[in-house]
Amino acid sequence: MEVFNKAYTLKNCSFILDSEKILENVNIVIENGKIKNVGNETEGDEIDCSEYVVTPGFVNSHTHSAMIFLRGYYDDNELQEWLDKMWEKERTASRKLLKVSSELAVLEMLSSGTTAFVDMYFNPEDIVELSQQYGIRAAAGYTFLDEIFDPEEVAKMQGRLQETKLFKPIVNVHSVYATSEKTLLLAKDLAEEENTWINIHLSETRKEIYETKLRKGKFPVEYLQSLGIAKFQAVHLGWVASWEIEMLKNSIAVTHCPTSNMKLATAGAFPFYEMLNSGINVTIGTDGPASNNSLDIIREMKNAVLLQRHSYWDTRIKALHVFRAATENGYKLLRIKGGLIKEGYVADLVLFNKNDLYPLKKDRILSNIIYFSTKENISKIIINGKIIDKETLRKRIYEVSKKLNEMI
Ligand SMILES: [Zn+2]
Repeated sequence: MEVFNKAYTLKNCSFILDSEKILENVNIVIENGKIKNVGNETEGDEIDCSEYVVTPGFVNSHTHSAMIFLRGYYDDNELQEWLDKMWEKERTASRKLLKVSSELAVLEMLSSGTTAFVDMYFNPEDIVELSQQYGIRAAAGYTFLDEIFDPEEVAKMQGRLQETKLFKPIVNVHSVYATSEKTLLLAKDLAEEENTWINIHLSETRKEIYETKLRKGKFPVEYLQSLGIAKFQAVHLGWVASWEIEMLKNSIAVTHCPTSNMKLATAGAFPFYEMLNSGINVTIGTDGPASNNSLDIIREMKNAVLLQRHSYWDTRIKALHVFRAATENGYKLLRIKGGLIKEGYVADLVLFNKNDLYPLKKDRILSNIIYFSTKENISKIIINGKIIDKETLRKRIYEVSKKLNEMI
């Protein structure tokens, strides 16, 4: 059933849960893309929701969607060697190949309940189109990466991006080691002009820390701070110093990408608990499909908890923390009133089949979603009130993946 602008009701949802509450047998009234009521009221068409457990949509706060064409290529190597191989291929990739790859990424992300994503790559204009075509929220921008692109050109192209209902332009900077100081300052001015934030890989490896200290006399977070760059989203931070955590208090968000960190052997430890304690907005990302290689945010939430347990030998980071990071905190990063199932919030929701989440008990629902469920347990995704059926996505993945296979 295609219902969108007019009011409709998800009737008698078996459970709804967000990072604030778990409710049983309630209705959700949706109108004009927003949640109008959560409770007993009904309005407009009624959709039987008694077979579903409803959560907010998930935000994949860091990926490189177009890298699907590099999935499985030069796997099992450490970051710098791996990156050199990626850049070699990326230099000659056609625009068409990037678009087909990003389309598959969008379809995969939707299938695993991702309703919004932050993309760092070279084809943000494709992301604008794809967000429109599939109704997914996205934040993206051209990427400053001195090795491949002239920074002045990047800044010029960035100026062409316009905000839409679903798309937000952001300023992407690959890293402090792949850009000059001049480029970083250009990116800073651009982000200020466009009233947006800088998205940057930061403190990912020991090599980055060592070389930044050697070249600049500072650690990476200190270095950005010294350039007056404060409004940024820092991704990775496995090698951040304790005093740098204090400096991150003014950041927009930090993003943890546990699977990529493990796969690329970057080691270190993301100080999740200390970040939360400092009031920092912690979010979760899959990183790209060549370094993960999955874009499944459910799997990422589980890995985030497991990596914390393995790194710190304690259980301070719990399922609720990663659930909040992927929902409420992700929407906060995007500056959208979402990530909670609450009146006035955007109607971005995920419907899990309740019969897959056994034992189906109120006190185990969250655990079952984070530690047990897979994307196969998702039946429908709702973004801005628009319902997307999982089966439609699956069929489209088969069609588009055929195209990709013919191009590789
Ligand atoms: Zn990345």
